[in-house]
Amino acid sequence: MLWRAPTGYGPLQRGLAWAGLILMLASFGWLQLLPPSERVQISSDDGWDRGPVRLVVIDAGHGGRDSGAIRDGVIEKDLTIDVARRLEQLLRARGFRTVLTRSGDEAVSLAERTAIANEQRNCVFVSIHFDEGGRAAATGVNTYYAARQQTAEPGITSWLPFLQPVSNESTNVGSQSLAGFVQQALVTRTGAVDRGTRAQQFYVIANVRHPAVLVEGGFLTNQEDLSKLTREEYRQELAAAISDGIKHYSEVVRERPTVAAVPEPGT
Ligand SMILES: [Zn+2]
Repeated sequence: MLWRAPTGYGPLQRGLAWAGLILMLASFGWLQLLPPSERVQISSDDGWDRGPVRLVVIDAGHGGRDSGAIRDGVIEKDLTIDVARRLEQLLRARGFRTVLTRSGDEAVSLAERTAIANEQRNCVFVSIHFDEGGRAAATGVNTYYAARQQTAEPGITSWLPFLQPVSNESTNVGSQSLAGFVQQALVTRTGAVDRGTRAQQFYVIANVRHPAVLVEGGFLTNQEDLSKLTREEYRQELAAAISDGIKHYSEVVRERPTVAAVPEPGT
């Protein structure tokens, strides 16, 4: 016998629907009670806050028991925190505020990492990783952005679980643009092979509601990349390149606050 879809709603579904409606009305009423400064600020049609970039959330990939890639005694989690700390220093010297999602060798869940960024009203988020390839020949740097990201209003979603943010189906031009500036600076500074920018729904960037990118700063599985990454000066150049990319992006956003109008580098 074929399975038939139920034709009507039972009392349970009706009850849940009513409960949902009542909660929604209650939440709307609650928002009206909040003083204006505590209300959710939606600065544009799509929920993106487009003020100048002052804060950078730096996410050193992996940590704790999660080592990431390992090759010849080089451990990805050690490289990521090293570059993150260098980036922190460089950005602070340029007048940015910074927050690290981890400052030592501790385990931080992906959800915690995104939550740190989503607490902020206005920031950019950069996650630092190193790659491993199936082929030893794979080499170079690339920068990922999520084509679809959360753009939801944080105040509502944080306390009403059934109103979880939904993905915006349109391309996230802010993140795409930031990825372009970071990637260009990486290639210029390090001379590494340009693997370009790519759209990828990595959790840690797809679930941040600010411009967010993930940098893969070289392959531990490539002998040349590996030997470069063991050099302190090279890791400093990587950090300086990411800092340059963020600075260029923030300058363009300041001049052209509509993120949709931010051009790709070189255009
Ligand atoms: Zn990684």
